[in-house]
Amino acid sequence: MLIRSNRPLDKLQEPVQVDLLTSLGMGDIYDQFPWPLPNMKACEGDAIWRYRSHYNFCADVWLDFQLPDGRHATLILSYISHGHNQRGGFAVLVHRSHYPQPSLVEYFTWTACDHAYKEERTGRCQHKLTCTKCGATYAVDSSD
Ligand SMILES: [Zn+2]
Repeated sequence: MLIRSNRPLDKLQEPVQVDLLTSLGMGDIYDQFPWPLPNMKACEGDAIWRYRSHYNFCADVWLDFQLPDGRHATLILSYISHGHNQRGGFAVLVHRSHYPQPSLVEYFTWTACDHAYKEERTGRCQHKLTCTKCGATYAVDSSD
């Protein structure tokens, strides 16, 4: 498993990797990679590209692995941990039954917690969303 962070290779990178691995339910990079991903849901590819073309990411994972049914696949996972994607992000699964041509590409969202956000107004155009399950929070300015 290869992890790339958007931060320079200094001490800032390690906390991102720990957050990512913890969100995946892994204690170490050598632990069994979880499949399916935590709270994984199918989504449209457009959702991923729309997000990635507007916002930054915390880390990306590239993993070549065998699905439980024996099919060979490449997983490109983005750790976003922003907005509704707190402690999660997106995943692109590329099936490789006709290598090197992708035979099927699937898109997913995933999060460590199946968040249930409660919204409260904190200002004229400002709202704070808090997950009632894990306590994750983020703020939204609706004046944008
Ligand atoms: Zn949550």
